[in-house]
Parts: sequence; structure tokens; C-alpha cells
Amino acid sequence: MFDFTAKTAIVTGAASGIGTAVAEELALSGAFVIVSDLDRAACDKVTAEIMDRGGKAASFAADVANPEAMQALADFAEAETGALHLAVNNAGIGGAQAPTGDYPLEAWHQVINVNLNGVFYGMRAQIRAMERAGGGAIVNMSSILGSVGFANSSAYVASKHALQGLTKTAAMEYAQKGIRINAVGPAFIATPLLTNNLTQEMLDGLAGLHPMGRIGTVAEVSGLTLFLLSDRASFITGSYHLVDGGYTAP
Ligand code: NAP
Repeated sequence: MFDFTAKTAIVTGAASGIGTAVAEELALSGAFVIVSDLDRAACDKVTAEIMDRGGKAASFAADVANPEAMQALADFAEAETGALHLAVNNAGIGGAQAPTGDYPLEAWHQVINVNLNGVFYGMRAQIRAMERAGGGAIVNMSSILGSVGFANSSAYVASKHALQGLTKTAAMEYAQKGIRINAVGPAFIATPLLTNNLTQEMLDGLAGLHPMGRIGTVAEVSGLTLFLLSDRASFITGSYHLVDGGYTAP
């Protein structure tokens, strides 16, 4: 549906769930995708699958919570292909479940480090590379919990709300430099983040929170993400786009 021929894209958290779907769809739409995640072997598996299907990809293991690693990732994309045009800052963790008064400090810092600081470190390096490329587009993976609360998840909710401010501010700063920056807010999506941690009964309960009566699919998130990265979204920047089956409508 979209043509990303001759574009280079970074996708973080690309070895699982939404990130894998975005990386695969970008590569099958012509982009050279840098598949990045914590574990090198997991990156290599996705990279091999993309290449088996005729796409272009390379692996780069990096912890988004490490600013030097995020700089090295952007440098790798440029060195490998000559320029960086697209980035999806998707890596994220759920963190501990506890009421705010009991929320463990270590878990708070871990979630903020990955979900918020990780996106800042990523954008900081990606924006400079995109300026050298003459423009680009970034999507930051937020959540419905970037606009509404969710009990026992204060760190996650705070980190995802903060992404909206970061996205809007950076979008204003680079709007006239040809770099568009948006955020995506999925509701509950069937990925290992959910399916590895919840029983079927809990998943059914979550489905009932969505007016559409189901949780979403990774393809439904990657479709919106690719649209925002594409030239079809050329007048869209600094905004937060929900893909939520009506979760936030009531
Ligand atoms: P997922 O299946 O758990 O995939 C996330 C990937 O990110 C995993 O491969 C994970 O590696 C990796 N990762 C974790 N910490 C990292 C770090 N510090 N540096 C680099 N990579 C790291 O999760 P998902 O459901 O696809 O979620 C992707 C994004 O969508 C997240 O930002 C999440 O908050 C957001 N989101 C998800 C949902 C949902 O319902 N699934 C809803 C709204 C928003 P390990 O497996 O090794 O930890």
C-alpha cells in the first residue's frame, strides 16, 4: 500500500509483537530496515525472515535505555545505507503492577528509563541523522494509556503520557526542517507483552473494555504506523493517533 523504496528505517523493539509487524511491513514496502532489540539472536531471526521474503534488513542489538547505544544505532543505519529517513521508537515494557503508594522505586525508574528516556535517546540521535538526510519521519509508540489512566500502572501511564509532550515539542522544533514526528496510541493488542503475562480469562476481560468487543492485532497498529511514516501523511506532525477499537470513546 505504501512505497518506502530507497528509505532506511530504524525499528526498536523489533524482535517481538508490534515492532516485528512494523519492521516486516516496512521492509516489504521497500525500506531497508534496521531491526533493533535487546537480544541479537532475536533480531537476526526477524532479519532473516524479512530477507527470506525478499526484503532488505540488518540487525543491531541495542538497549534503548542506553544513550550511547541509541547513537550507535543511528550511526549504524547511516553507515550501512548512507542515510536515515524513518524511525519507529517502539520498544517498551509494562513494568510492575502496584498502586502508586506502593509502587517499587526500582520498577518506576526502569519503566521511565525504557519507555520515556529510551524514546528521547532514540530521537536525539535519529533527528540529527535525518537532518543530514534532508528530512524524515518518526513514530513514537505510545498507548491509549498516554491519554487515560489505568490503575496499578502509574509508571507505564506516566511514561506514555510524557511521550505526547516529547512528540509535540520535537515536532514543532523540526516541522520546517522536513522531519515529521507523531505518536501512535494502541489499545490492548495481542502480542507477547499481553499473551505471555495474562490468562485467557484476563484477556477476555480486557476485550470487553473495547466497544468493538475484542483486542487489536499487530497489523492494525502497523497499518497506522506506516501511514504516518509515509508521504500520504505529509501534513501530519505533532499529533497522537489512536488505534483503539473505541476504548477511549466513552
Ligand atoms: P513486546 O511483544 O513485549 O515487544 C517489545 C520488544 O521490545 C521486546 O522484544 C522486548 O525485548 C523489547 N525491549 C524491551 N526493553 C527493551 C530495551 N530496553 N531496549 C530495546 N528493546 C527492548 O511488546 P508489544 O506489545 O509489541 O509492545 C510494543 C510497544 O507497543 C511498547 O512500547 C508498548 O508499550 C506499546 N503498546 C503495546 C500494547 C499492547 O497491548 N501490546 C498496547 C499499547 C501500547 P524482551 O522481550 O527481551 O524484553
